[in-house]
Amino acid sequence: MLIDKYDLEVFTPPCEPGAERFSAVARLVTDIREVLPYLNATLRGATYSAAAPSLVWTKAGHRVAFQPYQIAVSNVADRDAAIHELEELVKVVNRTWERRAEIQPSFDERHRPVPMAVYKLLPQTNCKVCGQPTCFVFAAKLTLGQVDLTACPALQEPQYADRLAQLQDMLGTDLPAVGQHE
Ligand code: SF4
Repeated sequence: MLIDKYDLEVFTPPCEPGAERFSAVARLVTDIREVLPYLNATLRGATYSAAAPSLVWTKAGHRVAFQPYQIAVSNVADRDAAIHELEELVKVVNRTWERRAEIQPSFDERHRPVPMAVYKLLPQTNCKVCGQPTCFVFAAKLTLGQVDLTACPALQEPQYADRLAQLQDMLGTDLPAVGQHE
């Protein structure tokens, strides 16, 4: 097991007082940098940086960051969900590490899409059903991992199926790491 001990901290980001969104950080005693290329190979849409090193991923609208001695998740609805999310991420790391012999590590460095590229694939009706004032604001929040594609009902309509597929590929989805489900 790569991670067997960590300290957990849950907090509301100071830049968002009263926002009622939570972040959580697992501070590790183990350096997990070696697992990052394996996670990069299995977590669709992850953004890997060898220089940092770090791996950023969006999971169901939550922004996740893996670094050598910590795993952080942000934009979670409540404290218990943040703790649960981090516990699941620790499991993902451990299972990926245990199965690394089956995985071709990836050192590819993706870049997060810019909001305009995302916006061009949205319905562009500014209907506000997603809770955002415009499609562009929604696009900007998608690139930051602050909202999820499922918040736009129009994208689920058949005529947007191709665009939705492109967006999922561009932004990544929360496909599990190898071995996440047993
Ligand atoms: S629900 Fe979709 S179409 Fe409507 S404003 Fe939000 S992103 Fe745009």
